[in-house]
Amino acid sequence: MIHEIFPVGPLQCNCSVIGDEATREGMVIDPGDDIEEILALVHKHNLQIKQIVITHAHIDHVGGAMKLRAATGAPILLNQNDYALLRMLDVQAAWVGVPTPGKVEIDQSLGSSDKIKAGSLSATVLHTPGHTEGSVCLYFPAEKKLIAGDTLFAGSIGRTDLPGGSFDKIIRSLHGTLLKLPDDTLVVPGHGPLTTIGEERESNPFLVE
Ligand SMILES: [Zn+2]
Repeated sequence: MIHEIFPVGPLQCNCSVIGDEATREGMVIDPGDDIEEILALVHKHNLQIKQIVITHAHIDHVGGAMKLRAATGAPILLNQNDYALLRMLDVQAAWVGVPTPGKVEIDQSLGSSDKIKAGSLSATVLHTPGHTEGSVCLYFPAEKKLIAGDTLFAGSIGRTDLPGGSFDKIIRSLHGTLLKLPDDTLVVPGHGPLTTIGEERESNPFLVE
């Protein structure tokens, strides 16, 4: 599995470029900004991008999606519960103090348990509301890897005080969905360092019983 993790934009969202080494098919997750650099990684690995997956509709995760779609022709996927947030990108841009990326069009909704494939790689969509209503994580069972968006961080969890956020829901998503994964699952959070499910189960103050 090719997997480049690259922090993009002023909020340093972890963008993932993932590819199958044999078929060179790939996907990009959370192209928030810095599309030139993302495309350089895509070209470096000679990948044909099949999907652009957005873990949730915050501007730092979705801001560059249209530019990447124009460059690759790949469809943009987002859970439909975040479509309302996506219509607020201008408001979000003002919060963060960045220029608005304009309108982002979604080609396909990401549903719970959907499989996202690139070559032999297969990820399962886990709907994990709380940070936003439409937040999802992508789980690659064969590689024991979780792309967690802003649901789980090393030592912390996503904020729930923005529109669509719910502390009760994120706690339910964490305990009911993410903590069901094996301890040796590598977690790639939406920001900051990598961790594992076991490490967070042991020491994350929001998750210890
Ligand atoms: Zn977010």
